[in-house]
Amino acid sequence: MTTSSHELFITGLKNAHAMENQALSIMKPQVARIESYPDVGARLESHIRETEGQIARLEAILDSLGADRNSLKDMALSLAGSFAAVGHTAAPDEILKNSMANFAFENFEIAAYKSLIALAEAGGHRETIPQLQRNLDEELAMADWLDQNIEAVTLKFASLKEAGETAKK
Ligand code: MG
Ligand code: FE
Repeated sequence: MTTSSHELFITGLKNAHAMENQALSIMKPQVARIESYPDVGARLESHIRETEGQIARLEAILDSLGADRNSLKDMALSLAGSFAAVGHTAAPDEILKNSMANFAFENFEIAAYKSLIALAEAGGHRETIPQLQRNLDEELAMADWLDQNIEAVTLKFASLKEAGETAKK
């Protein structure tokens, strides 16, 4: 691997590490607030656990490549701003906006891992691919779950809203 593509791979891994920390900060407040959608809450809860495992895998890969861990914190802070718009706390339809934003975020993660795997394949870091593939598979499964559930969540939201409005009258 040339120096520059090695650096690109390391930078990509650090970006993925920051992305996963951002994923936690997006999902955790949602889980804390969800009341009427227990299946969404349960899936988010399990993806939070998965995400913690993903972070551990990325750290193990970075360590195996002798990357400097000190820069990870700065990257996390800089990425936080770029996804600030993802939180929709306090919007009356926050469950819908969050469902859409979560689907977008999972697809961002899928693209990130596909990119990392391409770099690993091209640049002689094939030993890291099984770990990256495991992260990718979890993102694909989460994106698929969100994809399968958006209609049901929307219709439940609509019926809860209707029931709430009926109750008021
Ligand atoms: Mg993830
Ligand atoms: Fe994810």
